Amino acid sequence: MEKYHIITYGCQMNESDSERLAGQLEHLHYRRTETPAEADVIIINTCCIRESAENKVYGKIGELKHLKQHNPNLLIGITGCMAQKNKKALFARAPHIDFVLGPYNLHHLEELVSQKQQTVASHTLMTDMRAASIEDFTDIKAKRESNVFAWVPIMQGCNKFCTYCIVPYVRGREWSRPLASIRAEVEQLAQEGYKEITLLGQNVNAYGLDFKNGTDFSDLLYTVNEVPGIERIRYMTSHPRDMSRDMIDAIAACPKVCTQMHLPIQSGSDELLRRMNRGYTLADYMELLDYIRIRLPQTVLTTDLIVGFPGETEAMHADTLRLLETVEYDMAYTFIFSKRSGTPAAAMNNQVDDDTKKRRLQELMDVQNEISLRKNQDMVGQVFEVIAEGPSKKNADNWFGRTSGNKMILFPYQAGMTIGETMQVRVDRAQTWVLTGTPTERRSTAI
Ligand code: SF4
Repeated sequence: MEKYHIITYGCQMNESDSERLAGQLEHLHYRRTETPAEADVIIINTCCIRESAENKVYGKIGELKHLKQHNPNLLIGITGCMAQKNKKALFARAPHIDFVLGPYNLHHLEELVSQKQQTVASHTLMTDMRAASIEDFTDIKAKRESNVFAWVPIMQGCNKFCTYCIVPYVRGREWSRPLASIRAEVEQLAQEGYKEITLLGQNVNAYGLDFKNGTDFSDLLYTVNEVPGIERIRYMTSHPRDMSRDMIDAIAACPKVCTQMHLPIQSGSDELLRRMNRGYTLADYMELLDYIRIRLPQTVLTTDLIVGFPGETEAMHADTLRLLETVEYDMAYTFIFSKRSGTPAAAMNNQVDDDTKKRRLQELMDVQNEISLRKNQDMVGQVFEVIAEGPSKKNADNWFGRTSGNKMILFPYQAGMTIGETMQVRVDRAQTWVLTGTPTERRSTAI
């Protein structure tokens, strides 16, 4: 039996895309292997959001060269964002690559692999954007990693053109998947026993705007909230500019929508937000948060921050530190600014030196870690509903699961516990990144 191996870099969109790439290969009766040397097809599904991600991919491509030398029939494909960005240059740098598929061409994998001899000869490049309908890819049956938790792509691309971001250039403009197609997938998932879905898009709050018929993200939430069997709905990522009050009201009205909200702010400085082209001010953001806190008081709020954006002064950095103290996020994902060629920020003057970036990153993390720990300590003694995800990697006697707010809790395994079981867990101990607890009540669901 022929085998495939997929290596995925980057965000949840890529994880989800890899599941649909795997689905196409399974349809050709290939089976997954975790050992690259056994594979007949190897796909590297790539990310180019930061330079470090791109370097990792090149390193991995180099490692595969000896496999190709041992097995000339091995097919090596590069897919995703870096494939779109670097196109033919990938073949020049690594001639052992057989094909390159951009994010809008992933549905061609099955056809390519089934005609593999021609593919080997031709260095196939497919990077047209909008060459197909979005459903050509999103309606492919995914070979999922989990039987309980499922990614559901709802749109492609982004129109925002933040000045540091490569996404609109490699994933194109916003392109929403029809509501009926999403609903059909979610219904199917419910029938198969899935309990939790995550609606995925670069900017989920822009969902449906390209239909120009009044449909928006609120309609999608109401629709999927109706599907029997699905217990939890998550979504990512949100954009503060497009997150409307109607959407917040919809989240409040849909009991299955989780209490987790990831709302990237990127900086606490209005001047930097303007230079980043984020489309909101700090005051706009805080006003939105006020409404969220009124309508959704249980919200577990997380954010993204960029450190060392060109022109960031000590005063601007202090604004961001102050923002962390003011908002008290449950978690902040902090990233050092990475120049991406072709984006406006890469050409900006006043690039911040590496030592300053590292120091500021540490200062942000120190402040945030203290807040995250404090927030977690506030949970000690309380009981939360958790869906079990399985044994912890470090100690199989401990299982883990997540609260609706996406906080991870470790708890001791009990006889008969199953992945996907919904239970109540009391928090006994808090650390910065994880909680430890004890199940107090179990509602067993065989899967
Ligand atoms: S909203 Fe900005 S950061 Fe997010 S994908 Fe779009 S351009 Fe990139």
